[in-house]
Amino acid sequence: MSDCLFCKIAAGEIPSNKVYEDETVYAFYDIDPQAPTHFLVIPKAHIGSVAEITPENATVVAHIFAVISKVTKELGLESYRVVSNIGEQAGQSVHHLHFHVLAGRDMTWPPG
Ligand code: 5GP
Ligand code: ZN
Repeated sequence: MSDCLFCKIAAGEIPSNKVYEDETVYAFYDIDPQAPTHFLVIPKAHIGSVAEITPENATVVAHIFAVISKVTKELGLESYRVVSNIGEQAGQSVHHLHFHVLAGRDMTWPPG
């Protein structure tokens, strides 16, 4: 999607601090970290949010979770939280599917 911020980041058109990359997935540190470690994992192909996941495009989501499992181990993270905000009320500000990975501090439940 030509005017999508995360499509541009995944394509390298906007700089980011890369954590991981392969053919279908890109991970990078959040510009406004909410925990000592805070990175985002996105599909390179544009999907608007979890609400746009279908049987046809869902494979990349399993791959994203395999990437999260691998990268967190490489970073030595034993405890972390994975979050995806969907829609305005939940606080989604970028309309390209992304999973936040947050670690390095005590977390509360329920989330705010
Ligand atoms: P959302 O609010 O949609 O759940 O999450 C979007 C996230 O993207 C926010 O945590 C925000 O800090 C991050 N973000 C927004 N713009 C940029 C950017 O240009 N670069 C990076 N690395 N993160 C961004
Ligand atoms: Zn996009």
